[in-house]
Amino acid sequence: MKRILIVEDEAKLARLISRVLGEEGYAAETAGDGRSGLSRALTESFDLLILDWMLPDRSGLQVVRGLRAAEVSVPVLMLTARDQIEDRVEGLDAGADDYLPKPFAFPELLARVRALTRRSWGPGEEGKDAAAQLAAGDVALDPVRHEVRRAGERVELTAKEFALLATLIQRPGQVFTRSVLLDTVWGGSAEVYTNVVDLYVSYLRKKLDRNGEPSRIRTVRGVGYTFEPQAPEPR
Ligand code: CA
Repeated sequence: MKRILIVEDEAKLARLISRVLGEEGYAAETAGDGRSGLSRALTESFDLLILDWMLPDRSGLQVVRGLRAAEVSVPVLMLTARDQIEDRVEGLDAGADDYLPKPFAFPELLARVRALTRRSWGPGEEGKDAAAQLAAGDVALDPVRHEVRRAGERVELTAKEFALLATLIQRPGQVFTRSVLLDTVWGGSAEVYTNVVDLYVSYLRKKLDRNGEPSRIRTVRGVGYTFEPQAPEPR
């Protein structure tokens, strides 16, 4: 079960978010100020932090800076009533992964929570061990080192290609729609279009596939893409 820490000083809102996340199957906990939020996020293991910007003791911005300075890479979704673009940029620069202006609709919060927790690697994420490796057939991906190998050979990928492959390979055989991939890899940004997914799949195929073999990334017509769990049998 994914653990989520909600750092929010408005107790009523914190309880509401916690209840909604609980109904969706997350283990949600709350902290009511920046100091205790930071201390818990530094010492405990969470899959996501939902972090209010305006908090007593430490601001959300200070909390996220503190976490990143300590090299804690837990995904952070920032909430704020201040929806000016400068704030958003400042928050993202400080190391927040996503940003949601208040007031927000719960389906939107849940969509972002799903996208951000999908990106986390579970236990061993901050770790240095092989537990962090993702593999399907002869393709292995190391999210800590940011390395991809096919049959032991290094494959060089750009950051977006890596993120796309990581998303697909986390659940081999599962079909991902273009909009889910767009949401996960590109953060559902309005400036990109769904055909960017097709474009990046074509880049990945060029780098990953072998001549004469079916692609490891299979197109599911009218739906999206899936990563084949097994390499094709040699002919
Ligand atoms: Ca607040």
